[in-house]
Amino acid sequence: MGVPISQMWTTATYVLNQKIKGRKQYPLVLMLEPLFRCNLACAGCGKIQYPAHVLKSQLTPEECFRAVDECGAPTVSIPGGEPLLHPQIGEIVEGLVARRKYIYLCTNALLLKEKIHLFKPSKYLTFSVHMDGQREHHDFSVCLEGGYDKAIDGIKAALDGGFRVTTNTTLFDGADPKSVRAFFDEMMELGVEGMMLSPGYSYDKAPDQQRFLGRARTRRLFRAMLSNRSKKWRFNQSALFLEFLMGKREYACTPWGMPTYNVFGWQKPCYLLQDGYADSFAELLETTAWENYGTESGNPKCANCMVHSGYEASAVNDLFGSVGGMWQEVKARMFGGYEDASALRLLDEAAQTAHAVNPLVQIEASAGERAGEETRV
Ligand code: SF4
Repeated sequence: MGVPISQMWTTATYVLNQKIKGRKQYPLVLMLEPLFRCNLACAGCGKIQYPAHVLKSQLTPEECFRAVDECGAPTVSIPGGEPLLHPQIGEIVEGLVARRKYIYLCTNALLLKEKIHLFKPSKYLTFSVHMDGQREHHDFSVCLEGGYDKAIDGIKAALDGGFRVTTNTTLFDGADPKSVRAFFDEMMELGVEGMMLSPGYSYDKAPDQQRFLGRARTRRLFRAMLSNRSKKWRFNQSALFLEFLMGKREYACTPWGMPTYNVFGWQKPCYLLQDGYADSFAELLETTAWENYGTESGNPKCANCMVHSGYEASAVNDLFGSVGGMWQEVKARMFGGYEDASALRLLDEAAQTAHAVNPLVQIEASAGERAGEETRV
């Protein structure tokens, strides 16, 4: 099981409470971005293209705590940018643990080994390490030779220190599903608690616009990758969301399920789009024209999106919102090997396509250079 029982229980009781209170729009995970600067420059990233004055700014611990208290979500994900570059990240995490929030600190792990002393192991704190696949693919994806080995060092240091560690993997067009399956085996052997997957979202600002997946290709890739599943693989996300990615079920987007707070304020409507900002979480809920978002809205910016920040909340709502949803999740976790002979053939075809469309080229710096780089502004 990829998520501990106590954390599932907290989420389940939170969702039930919201339903009892009759709330239609409630957050499950706060995406708290304390800064945008990073010590990587990945081709598929839409967050690091801001001007220098924005990349230099950051949230104070007090601003982070105010957003977390205002939002009330039981889980806080801290992406960025690279959160370990924030000079007060230890203080921020300590304050959130004191509030009994389940924290996923999303990091590329280049600095994890040297900054691990800033943190104390806790059931509330998980390092969610950005790993895009096996060594060659990861280094290509993050544009950094040696990035994979450096991240593995960070993961080992965190595991040795008694911390919870998961991985998060963003998949783009041209990913080789056979290689991704081998990567799952590697991560399980390493001892991470679970893995999180998401298709890449086509950010307007990302430098490489050629590699984003449309919906049909997303389903094909995830069906090839996640059918005929090894019993050893653990995913720390809803089985129903993974079935959605495989094309086995449909969900509408729940953009308020994972709201984003960053140096600009509360971002409308979701982690991926920037259609303005609100000063408070209540204002975000009240003033966003939610009907204009989600694939079913016809908004072209949402047309190809299947990203967890919009759709995992829908799956979790389904899971904890009905006996049927709960049963589907339990069944998928206990018996979900997803045997599928045609997906095996798909695996071979997709692997050939991957090598044709994804020649590995651009590497621009070494891990030693990047890890020592505190800011890139
Ligand atoms: S479909 Fe994707 S981009 Fe559109 S609102 Fe939902 S999460 Fe955001």
